[in-house]
Amino acid sequence: MLFDTHAHLNDEQYKDDLQEVIERAQKEGVSNMVVVGFDRPTIEKAMELAKNYEFIYACIGWHPVDAIDMTPEDLLWIEELSAHPKVVALGEMGLDYHWDKSPKDIQKEVFRKQIRLAKKVKLPIVIHNREATGDIVEILKEEGAEEVGGIMHCFSGSPEIAKECMNMNFYISLGGPVTFKNAKKPKEVAAEVPLDKLLIETDCPYLAPHPFRGKRNEPAYVKLVAEQIAEIKGVSVEEIAEATTRNAKKLFAIK
Ligand SMILES: [Zn+2]
Ligand SMILES: [Zn+2]
Repeated sequence: MLFDTHAHLNDEQYKDDLQEVIERAQKEGVSNMVVVGFDRPTIEKAMELAKNYEFIYACIGWHPVDAIDMTPEDLLWIEELSAHPKVVALGEMGLDYHWDKSPKDIQKEVFRKQIRLAKKVKLPIVIHNREATGDIVEILKEEGAEEVGGIMHCFSGSPEIAKECMNMNFYISLGGPVTFKNAKKPKEVAAEVPLDKLLIETDCPYLAPHPFRGKRNEPAYVKLVAEQIAEIKGVSVEEIAEATTRNAKKLFAIK
């Protein structure tokens, strides 16, 4: 049993073969997935998938790259949807300093608003971080995000930062990059993060693991992430699958 905690099956790239993609995932032992919506169209699609498939859950929020587009109505809409039993987390939210569509101060404001909403509706949060680690950690601390906790998704920082996040009630989620030959930090993090704090994800259609690097990613490949972590930790892939699935179900409050 594998749990892909971060998949964008609501992406355009699956519009022609979604059913096949889902069936391949199930064949590889992926028992659950969380589909992440981060703007109006992708949230709508994530909700639809979560309602149509028993084993799919939704995570909804506003992406930092598009922070500048989020209106008060959007936030209210997310709050209303968050009451649905298949919505298990808010996000992805955070900061992305790689792209400059949204100014930093607007990104920070939208991030803070979503953390406050998560505390209000009592859901964990999924953090997107690109080149913004210092500011992310500071905001999580200032906003008391520890109260809801959540996931550092597709974590690419150092083991020291991972530890700081774990101390704030966050799980560390690893994806395709841990399988890349030159990925020093994700491999160090895989070695050091204890099994009860680890999650796996694909972030598909992005970041396909080796040997599919550069191609379209899909939930079936989360098995390759689990295998790589098992090799690094020197344990069986079953042990990784079992621990990460247990962690995900606990965090998302899934039975
Ligand atoms: Zn992300
Ligand atoms: Zn994502």
